[in-house]
Amino acid sequence: MSEFVIAAPKIHTVPVSGGGEFPVRRVYCIGRNYAAHSIEMGDDPDRDPPFFFQKNPNNLCASDQFIYPPKTGDVHYEIEMAVALKKGGINIPVSRALDHVYGYAVCLDMTRRDLQGAAKAKGRPWEIGKAFENSGPIMPIQPVADVGHLDHGRVELMVNGETKQVGDLNQMIWKVPEMITYLSEYFELGAGDVIMSGTPSGVGPVVRGDEISASIQGLNPLKIKVI
Ligand code: MN
Repeated sequence: MSEFVIAAPKIHTVPVSGGGEFPVRRVYCIGRNYAAHSIEMGDDPDRDPPFFFQKNPNNLCASDQFIYPPKTGDVHYEIEMAVALKKGGINIPVSRALDHVYGYAVCLDMTRRDLQGAAKAKGRPWEIGKAFENSGPIMPIQPVADVGHLDHGRVELMVNGETKQVGDLNQMIWKVPEMITYLSEYFELGAGDVIMSGTPSGVGPVVRGDEISASIQGLNPLKIKVI
């Protein structure tokens, strides 16, 4: 192989609970996967099925600080469960989809809602609102061997001790195996892919100084300060 002509960017990783690093290949995020959040965003969940967008692998960061991003005055939290894949493929059947999961973690889909809204209004892509630096705070991934597969459990996000989002994993419109199958019909999934599985209702803004606590029953909670 010929040499790299610039220094090769290093593979981005997320820590694994108990040791080791999970290398991130792609990040798929599902939109409107909880009916109540779909309604609060102005959609009809019966008429508009969920859809996907992407963040960049290095937007995922395990940190206890969220750096308020530039060019926005309306940054929102969205608590989500991250699903980390240990193997990929195409046309993965639902019955075998969970065999592809390495582990799970609590994460946040931080969103520049004002920029996302402006893009939506013009039918433009969402990256400017979704795929910015540090936009995916995430906890160390917990292997299936430790936590099993999660299909129900309370989901809660608090800001400064006040509950803002509450839901249950069992309220997902598209379940984890269905998301894997769906994505594998449009893309070739690979080891290292992370799927962010959508957020319950109650999204809202944060400001510098706020403390976000995000928990999903069965997983380690995420606490992060907005700076
Ligand atoms: Mn989201």
